[in-house]
Amino acid sequence: MHVVVTGAAGFLGRYLTDALLAEGETVTALDRRPYEHSTHPAGSDVRVVTADLLGRDERVRQALATADAVFHLAGCPGVRDHGPAVAWARHRDNVLATARVLALVPADTPLVVTSSSSVYGGTPGGPCAEGDPPRPLGGYARSKVAVEELCAARRAAGGKVVVARPFTVAGEGQRPDMALASWLAAARAGRPLRVLGSLDRTRDVTDVSDVVRVLRDLAGCATPGIVNVGTGVGRPLRDLVAAVAATLDADVRTEVTPAGREEPADTLADTRRLRTLLGYVPQTDLLDLVTRQAAAAQRQAALVP
Ligand code: NAD
Repeated sequence: MHVVVTGAAGFLGRYLTDALLAEGETVTALDRRPYEHSTHPAGSDVRVVTADLLGRDERVRQALATADAVFHLAGCPGVRDHGPAVAWARHRDNVLATARVLALVPADTPLVVTSSSSVYGGTPGGPCAEGDPPRPLGGYARSKVAVEELCAARRAAGGKVVVARPFTVAGEGQRPDMALASWLAAARAGRPLRVLGSLDRTRDVTDVSDVVRVLRDLAGCATPGIVNVGTGVGRPLRDLVAAVAATLDADVRTEVTPAGREEPADTLADTRRLRTLLGYVPQTDLLDLVTRQAAAAQRQAALVP
């Protein structure tokens, strides 16, 4: 099977590409940043296309038009950035890039598009279900609502599109702007861990290995639509801080600062649809997850000259 992963050089994309290659799939790893594949065993069938989805590179069109399945993970993530440059980047890389992917992938090719739990704007009083009306709190979330609207139009026209709404994803290679990655770096440097809002805020944290498994399984899903990708368990930020301290065997200090308006107080997935579709729901072992992420960050730091 020939599979295309967009955003293959990113946090989720790299993990997914590695997993697909390990299973013997033929993968086109598409990203405007180079996807590093040096650790793969000889014989891995990876085609690296370093190109912008919105550019004129013929390899982009060719790969998306001929794939047996496409995972569209490329995008401009992160809820916290402000300013016109970020607003444009979100529109370009989330909305316009998705429109291009939808235009190039044939309607009967299974296509999994990553949206985000941000479209819910938090969980006032209970887990968020796929049928809840979107309540985007900021520009990132609004761009993902627009992405979902494009996908809905495509589904209405008979397209095989699954929209995945991951909640907070953590694990090896997590983006440095995300809380856990920045806390591990701060704790190692002896700096306080900056916590937005309150230590009582909760996040539904999913292991990147589970997210990747879910995305793969969703591609084979007969019923397209929107699916939460979470665990259904809210983790207080204080538990994440404690896991960082335990992993590094260090005393850590926290510094609580006000959270921006785009920052939901709590996130929690309703996982019933996920269970119905795939027959399982991920469970996160927080200490194992943080330990693996910390070890990977340490290995990565050792490689930087
Ligand atoms: P990431 O920034 O690590 O990876 C995104 C990749 O997309 C980058 O490598 C970037 O170069 C590439 N890219 C962006 N625009 C492109 C374009 N126009 N052409 C080619 N390549 C382009 O992000 P991530 O954390 O891996 O997230 C992947 C997807 O999942 C994003 O759509 C994000 O919004 C979504 N998501 C992530 C999380 C999370 O916790 N990480 C949670 C919910 C949703």
